[in-house]
Amino acid sequence: MRKHVIVVGGGLAGLAASIYLARAGKSVTIFERRRYLGGRAITHLRRGFRFNLGPHALYRGGGASMVFRELGVPIRGGVPRLAGTALFHDERYRLPVTPWSILATSLLSFSAKREAAALLLRMGRMDAKQAADLTADEWLDRNVVNERVRDFVRGLIRLSTYCCDTRSLSAAFAIRQLQIARSKVTYVDEGWQKLVDSLHSLAVASGVNFVSSNRVVAVVHDGEVKGVELGGLELEDRNDTQSVALPDAIPEYEPGAKIPAADVLLAVEPSSAAEMLRAGGDDSLAKEWSSLQPVEATCLDVALSSLPRPKDTFALGIDKPLYFSVHSAAAQLTPKGGALIHVMKYRAQRAAMHDLEIDQGNDRRAEVAADERELEELLELMQPGWRDVLVHRRFLPAMTVSNALVTPKTKRPSPVTPIRGLYLAGDWVGDEGLLSDAALLSARAAARAILG
Ligand SMILES: Cc1cc2nc3c(=O)[nH]c(=O)nc-3n(C[C@H](O)[C@H](O)[C@H](O)COP(=O)(O)OP(=O)(O)OC[C@H]3O[C@@H](n4cnc5c(N)ncnc54)[C@H](O)[C@@H]3O)c2cc1C
Repeated sequence: MRKHVIVVGGGLAGLAASIYLARAGKSVTIFERRRYLGGRAITHLRRGFRFNLGPHALYRGGGASMVFRELGVPIRGGVPRLAGTALFHDERYRLPVTPWSILATSLLSFSAKREAAALLLRMGRMDAKQAADLTADEWLDRNVVNERVRDFVRGLIRLSTYCCDTRSLSAAFAIRQLQIARSKVTYVDEGWQKLVDSLHSLAVASGVNFVSSNRVVAVVHDGEVKGVELGGLELEDRNDTQSVALPDAIPEYEPGAKIPAADVLLAVEPSSAAEMLRAGGDDSLAKEWSSLQPVEATCLDVALSSLPRPKDTFALGIDKPLYFSVHSAAAQLTPKGGALIHVMKYRAQRAAMHDLEIDQGNDRRAEVAADERELEELLELMQPGWRDVLVHRRFLPAMTVSNALVTPKTKRPSPVTPIRGLYLAGDWVGDEGLLSDAALLSARAAARAILG
């Protein structure tokens, strides 16, 4: 039994951990509740265009890139140009991100340019840990005099962390993420599904077993893991056209079946991990995991047969939490001549929304409709006439970009839990990185802990 490991969740974290484990001689089975692997890293193929779930950029200097290299996952794609538009009070400015664009932009006054240039230069050498007790806003208040520069850096923090709530976000994580972003990002050819497919192939080659369309409903333990319990077979829409679907679930497992294992790795979202523990009779850890605040975004993904303004490929909101990027300008995602664009609004945390005095009785549907209009207007500003060349569009009102907002006070759980034989991986686990970097670094740490 000690040799057998059950991994729950077939997203990037579960797949990566399973490869480390199988290569070290463990017998590994991944249970995935969906018919497809990949979790939030899947890519949908629509009329020849590859749609990631909202904008996905791989940080070249981050933990995910390191784990992919270590596992032998090839990363093909392009690096987007470090240039674009800054949107401020509905006007367009040159985005000040390089020495030349800082000099040339009219977004900043002369003294603001000096302060922004000095700060960006200093950023690379900063010790992020020294800001561990501060929120991003507190750190900005102490370190930046010019208000416009503060707004601009807040925009960069949103861009690199996907988090809008700089009043709560940990300054140490924000600084570290800005430092990682200096090594640029890759937009992956054929979408992040390509990374999922490569991980799947490597896992198969290492002998990992897969059981799809099967939800794990409970972790069976008495302070020491004994195994997991399965729910019923979950059947989904079969017409979905993704790159890779697993074969149908192996019918050897009946609903309610208990699968013995001494080591179980939960590579799922915290609410799902909490449910599995509660069903197994444990509430204290479940409570801790359920209290984590997610970071969300609203996304509009569009495919166009051509790009009305080929040069306008990137824009970042400075006073509003908005993002626009033509991902196909750097990566292969479309048929010839086509364009794939991601437009996004970083969503305020629920608590922060109350602070902003958004009417709590407000109809959520009206809010969603307003968000969609705002994203369409941004698209119109950057690519006028986009509706005339529209091939396919998809609106995602509330995506969970990260399962845990990191504040100076929130500590993400460790990959090793107090229950013997129970481990965690995901973007809400461990104390390193954000987004997929956190997911893959915690997967690696969990695998190492299992291997001892
Ligand atoms: C809009 C958006 C934009 C993003 N942009 C970026 C970016 O630019 N850069 C970046 O690094 N990251 C980005 N991310 C984050 C990145 O997608 C995630 O960090 C990463 O995919 C998480 O992988 P994971 O395996 O930890 O979790 P998930 O992908 O959530 O996988 C969890 C898996 O567990 C399965 N599961 C859950 N419960 C059970 C159960 N009980 N039994 C069986 N299976 C179960 C789920 O079906 C799922 O497949 C973005 C995410 C979103 C949504």
